[in-house]
Amino acid sequence: TTFKELGLMQPLVDACEQLKFKAPTEIQKESIPWSLQGRDIIGLAQTGSGKTAAFALPILQALWNNPSPMFACVMAPTRELAVQISETFESLGSTIGVRCCVIVGGMDMMAQSIALSKKPHVIVCTPGRLQDHLENTKGFSLRTLKYLVLDEADRLLDMDFGPIIDQILKVIPKERNTFLFSATMTTKVAKLQRASLNNPVKVEV
Ligand code: AMP
Repeated sequence: TTFKELGLMQPLVDACEQLKFKAPTEIQKESIPWSLQGRDIIGLAQTGSGKTAAFALPILQALWNNPSPMFACVMAPTRELAVQISETFESLGSTIGVRCCVIVGGMDMMAQSIALSKKPHVIVCTPGRLQDHLENTKGFSLRTLKYLVLDEADRLLDMDFGPIIDQILKVIPKERNTFLFSATMTTKVAKLQRASLNNPVKVEV
């Protein structure tokens, strides 16, 4: 299988080639065709499986088809992971001019507020700091959000981000697509799945 055969458009196929991705990984093969059809995804996959590109590529394709600010929000358990995810979006999305912003704890709130005021397409965040901006940054909202990604959901919940994620789910559009990725399926992950996903396709690798 090639990236092209998964249904990805040429600029994204080219970006994969530039990153020396020779062929899609298992999680990419099994999830991308569904994501491109607009389905929600629950992906059980480890780090190293290529899961970041599995959610970034369909989001970038949807963004290209219908560009709007605050298009996607990715929640990750740690700052380091958020930065890595943002770098993946920027390298895969350079050909389509994607604008990303990282919103994590321990960094200057004001600088982040300015970054948000520039209306990025993709916000990669840790949940606590995102909630802080939703409450305190004037003019910032996620009312136009089209895609939500909950990455490493088991770790997000282990770090007690569950209540904050529940709050955020209340202020984002119900009509959106959601991708939830987790290394393990736990009771808490199942509960978050029921709260956030709509008739998802389950992909396990
Ligand atoms: P991830 O599981 O998203 O953390 O990705 C692990 C590593 O695999 C990253 O360094 C990616 O750049 C790389 N990667 C993702 N997809 C592919 C692919 N189809 N072929 C080769 N490497 C890939």
